Amino acid sequence: MPRRYVLALVKHETNTFSPIDTPLSSFGHGEGPAFGAEVAERFRGTNTPLAAYLDLAARERAEIVTPVAAESWPSNRASRATFEALVRPIEDAVRAGCDAVFLDLHGAMVIDDCDDPEGEIARRVRRIAPGIPVAVTLDYHTNLSGELVDNATVVTGYKTYPHVDMYDAGMLAGSILVRALDGAIEPAMAWGSLPLLASVMRHAPEDGPSGDILDYARAEERSGRVLAATLLPSFPHADTPHTGVSAIVVGDARRGGREAAREVCDRMLAIAWERRDEYVFRAPPLAESVARAKALGLGNPGAPVLLIDHCDNCGSGGAQDVMAVVAEILAQGLEGVAIAPIRDPLAVAAMVEAGEGQRVRLALGGRTPMPSIGLAGKPLEVEGRVARITDGAFTITGPMYTGLRTYLGRTAVLDTGRARIVVTSRPHEPFDRGVFTHAGIDPAAQRYLMLKSRIHYRAGFKPIASHIVECAGEGVTNADLSVYDYRKLVRPIYPLDPM
Ligand SMILES: [Zn+2]
Repeated sequence: MPRRYVLALVKHETNTFSPIDTPLSSFGHGEGPAFGAEVAERFRGTNTPLAAYLDLAARERAEIVTPVAAESWPSNRASRATFEALVRPIEDAVRAGCDAVFLDLHGAMVIDDCDDPEGEIARRVRRIAPGIPVAVTLDYHTNLSGELVDNATVVTGYKTYPHVDMYDAGMLAGSILVRALDGAIEPAMAWGSLPLLASVMRHAPEDGPSGDILDYARAEERSGRVLAATLLPSFPHADTPHTGVSAIVVGDARRGGREAAREVCDRMLAIAWERRDEYVFRAPPLAESVARAKALGLGNPGAPVLLIDHCDNCGSGGAQDVMAVVAEILAQGLEGVAIAPIRDPLAVAAMVEAGEGQRVRLALGGRTPMPSIGLAGKPLEVEGRVARITDGAFTITGPMYTGLRTYLGRTAVLDTGRARIVVTSRPHEPFDRGVFTHAGIDPAAQRYLMLKSRIHYRAGFKPIASHIVECAGEGVTNADLSVYDYRKLVRPIYPLDPM
């Protein structure tokens, strides 16, 4: 009898300060959630945990049930009704009978009446099928909860930021679970979390303590002492009682792995705590950063200087229409700039109506008030030529989400003479060069690129950059965590409180 596996993906990174809503239709890379057989069609062969689960099931000749695959761009809380529309199909699939459940989750989801939806999903699965083996893969930006751990057999996460090892993390979790089903091992997990908010701008392995902690984790995995060791540097823009840096380690209880997992987990967290000051991001004023970028570009015309507008990143819940950094770039007179993407469906509609080649004058962006941080929307008056209109669809060719079809919605390029601005209808963090190339712009040939991103831009753009300058604009992904009015965090917590 072939085994029967339930494979499902439900992912949302919830920024509880975000001004952006999260309707059911936002789950999907522009196409809405996938249900049933469409799940495998969309995800097979992509760099995602779900694709690894699909491959593993095929290798095992297991029968698969794929109730749902649903991922939204980060934004504020989804409703209970939206969540139920995604979770009930999983419950139905488990209720119909299965040998194991493989979940591809985020780890920083919040919904309107629950701070820990991932924990709830695992608990509801186990309520239907007590003791059922459950594998879970989490994003790097997870706020881990005890409820999720208590209701899973194996938990792993990504070890990269940009996340280019999503498939590998899924394969690791899935393989451990299959070995457990075969009776070859008995997984035991140890986890812990710290009263520590780590700035996302200091999460990348090359920037802060994470790199050394991940090197240590990999070494312990390679030695065979533990099966999987995962650092979860937290998502500080989700205000929950379990927000903070954590780690989770899986060992084989039959070979002393329970104790080894505890030791490795404690060591990982000890390094993070000892070096907590390195997780704090300190930014110079915006005008100073743009002036520095300008000088770097003038002195080095061979490859673009990247200006990173990291406080308004839709990949972490930003509106993607805050114009502060664009305004400073235009005010300081930088030339040879390409900018992507500004999300403004109204400006796109105006440019589509004017038509390619026509001159337009627009109030661009700044349409989204952000009451959570006391910021009003502030559009920027711009004038230029409509250089290109596209349908915004392209297939990702870079290392992150490789192979996945993505949709910016109707898109228009405004050429102001000094800058070409890619204006989209839907959110999209620029981690792949397709945001420019699909609209006829060669990013490598620009003097400057302004990207609304924090770290993921490195996947597609670091290889072509001469210099990178982080520009602190405004928005709900501000790296200065003191701008947020936290209500649910457990205090004291570093660096908000002296510890
Ligand atoms: Zn992430």
